[in-house]
Amino acid sequence: MTRVYNFGAGPAMLPEAVLQQAQEEMLNWQGTGMSVMEVSHRSQDFQALLQQAEQDLRDLLLVPEQYRVLFLTGPARSQFSMIPLNLLGDNSQADYIDTGIWSHAAIAEARQFCQVNVAVSSEENSYKTIPPLAAWQLNSQAAYCYYTANETVNGVEFHTVPEVGSTPLVVDMTSSLFSRPFDVSKFGLIFAGAQKNFGPAGLTVVIVREDLLDRAAATTPSVFNYALQNKHQSLYCTPATFSCYIAGLVFRLLKQQGGIEAIGKINQRKASKLYDFIDNHDFYHNDIDPDYRSRMNVPFTLAESTLNDKFLKQAKDQGLCALKGHRSVGGMRASIYNAMPEAGVDVLISFMDEFARAYP
Ligand SMILES: *Cc1c(COP(=O)(O)O)cnc(C)c1O
Repeated sequence: MTRVYNFGAGPAMLPEAVLQQAQEEMLNWQGTGMSVMEVSHRSQDFQALLQQAEQDLRDLLLVPEQYRVLFLTGPARSQFSMIPLNLLGDNSQADYIDTGIWSHAAIAEARQFCQVNVAVSSEENSYKTIPPLAAWQLNSQAAYCYYTANETVNGVEFHTVPEVGSTPLVVDMTSSLFSRPFDVSKFGLIFAGAQKNFGPAGLTVVIVREDLLDRAAATTPSVFNYALQNKHQSLYCTPATFSCYIAGLVFRLLKQQGGIEAIGKINQRKASKLYDFIDNHDFYHNDIDPDYRSRMNVPFTLAESTLNDKFLKQAKDQGLCALKGHRSVGGMRASIYNAMPEAGVDVLISFMDEFARAYP
């Protein structure tokens, strides 16, 4: 059995080198005679692992000193409630930018905690574009302004960081963190679940500006309290140790590969190739505003939706897996995160070319 190219949106592909290293040290991690999963999270060995992972993350993203990095257990979605619980303080209002399924879900959750001002929404355009900043109706009283950098389901992505003045900017980077360079200092808080682009499920990384750590609601459950987690250096409760370990290996590999600048160039090339191919073939279609097309998740449709099942089956037979689009959008979706080799995109394109020729 050879490895396939997995185009699934998440849990997604991991670098083969990382999986191999994990396999090699599975029974005896760093001479402990145990797997990393069996080691105490309070042991020196594990604390060193977590410190190294944090340092590598900081090096990769050039995280300024006044930001804290938290390795929290739970899904990315846990942040949909943790953010209002921790960041509202005495304020009862927050701005949200509605650009797709994930921001929409974050808004629904935030409504349980505060008055949500949807500053702008592209729902009427079926989330196929991102409205220009000039159209956003921001509230100067908002405790924070929340947006989703890459809408995994819809395939739309912000290619620059929006300027929202002095309101702390909060971003869901679950499907784009580590995929391209960006300026951490523009944000109040950045979060990402690991399973799309840097590790196994169960881990969510939060990067938060230190001055925002003092405003959690008194009723915030302790495991959901950023300040408490920060005080305990992410060891207040048992972290998702194996997920942290794999994420650490991924960060190491990214550094060896030349860092985020280098991987960003590869990602841009992979995405451009695929979009160019789709745009040059009548048989395939992507109707996202070209200015906001995602580099990570490429949705597309076939000219005949009756061919969808054939397409998926033949693709799978050639080792091209999980290309079925999200149920809310239909069609196909190729998720091409960091761990998808450029060769995988090339094989997909040749397959799509052959398929289109067979069904003119
Ligand atoms: C997948 C995803 C989520 C939800 O992740 P869970 O870990 O399942 O909660 C949230 N936001 C974005 C952008 C995602 O891609």
